Amino acid sequence: MKFRLKRCPVCDSIPFYSRYLEWTRDGAILGRDKARTRVVFLEVEEIHNQLNGISEKIGLSIDRIVYNAEKEVGKRFISTLVPEIITRLPRTRLTRPAVAQRLLGRYIISPYIAQLGMGLTTMLDYRPGKMHVFSLMNPYSVPVLAGDGAGIFEYLERIGVEATWEVDSSGNPTVTLRKSSERPGVEERLAYERASYLPGNAELNICPVCQVPREVSETFDFDPAQGIVKNRFSGCREVVMPTQSFSAIFRELERELGDEIPAIIVDLERRYVRDNLSERGTILGRPDVLSLLMDFTWRGIGNPVSAIRGKGGTDITIENPFNPSLVAGKVAGLYEAWTGKPVRFNWTEEMPGRLKVSLML
Ligand SMILES: [Zn+2]
Repeated sequence: MKFRLKRCPVCDSIPFYSRYLEWTRDGAILGRDKARTRVVFLEVEEIHNQLNGISEKIGLSIDRIVYNAEKEVGKRFISTLVPEIITRLPRTRLTRPAVAQRLLGRYIISPYIAQLGMGLTTMLDYRPGKMHVFSLMNPYSVPVLAGDGAGIFEYLERIGVEATWEVDSSGNPTVTLRKSSERPGVEERLAYERASYLPGNAELNICPVCQVPREVSETFDFDPAQGIVKNRFSGCREVVMPTQSFSAIFRELERELGDEIPAIIVDLERRYVRDNLSERGTILGRPDVLSLLMDFTWRGIGNPVSAIRGKGGTDITIENPFNPSLVAGKVAGLYEAWTGKPVRFNWTEEMPGRLKVSLML
């Protein structure tokens, strides 16, 4: 796949990031699409740690749950690019030419996925209204991408779709989407209205030319030709993921598997962050608790606003956390990596958009 790689002359970031994403001073990264899709930078291994960890904990694969939940995210994504009216036109060769769908896939959807570091998708076979087969190279998660693909196909074709996936002889996963019913599935519609965020005044070192924070262009190597975003300092692969994926997947997991899921998520995240950061040894010299969270704003994780020391410990407040359970686990894990000691903690959402993590010291 060829990409025009005219990079920012000042900070070297790729044009995609300034064209499609906006860093707010509230700790969020928002898409410039009409739904203002929120995204977050996370390590790919961190996502695997969550999904595999939950599977191991409950003793069964959650791939189908993840796939089903992500379908709605895929629909929402494509609906911001393609007005619904187009999908309502009668399915004729004139109004719904297959060539237009191919172009949409090749020039809009695939580059979008690649530049977010999600991997590469290649269309192998496409039969309008019936079937769509695509292969994945370097996918950050097969069930998530299969869910995205199924949601997109359902939305464009207005039919129910089922997906299967397998690894082909060259080792790459292939996803097959097949028509399963005349009507698209009725998953819960994700909120379309613009989320409101608590206003913040986080300092961001924004590039004056492309409006992307310097931390982002200094930290990452963008390789859209491979569909990979790599952190230069840690060597880890990262991905820019819609935060809606987490809400959809975790909501579905809770519905299917019960309310112990948030506690599992928090614990998996705490251990991942603690063990990986302890190994890298990058935060040992930080001066205080808030300085442990200094990458939160430019990663879109949330806006850390205070760390207040009281009698029993320290209360840390993060506004606009992208996902309260994951962020609470991160804070505890960072603290444990910094001090080298286990910490007891609890967390509450004081109000929508304000997370308080209380470390008991
Ligand atoms: Zn720039």
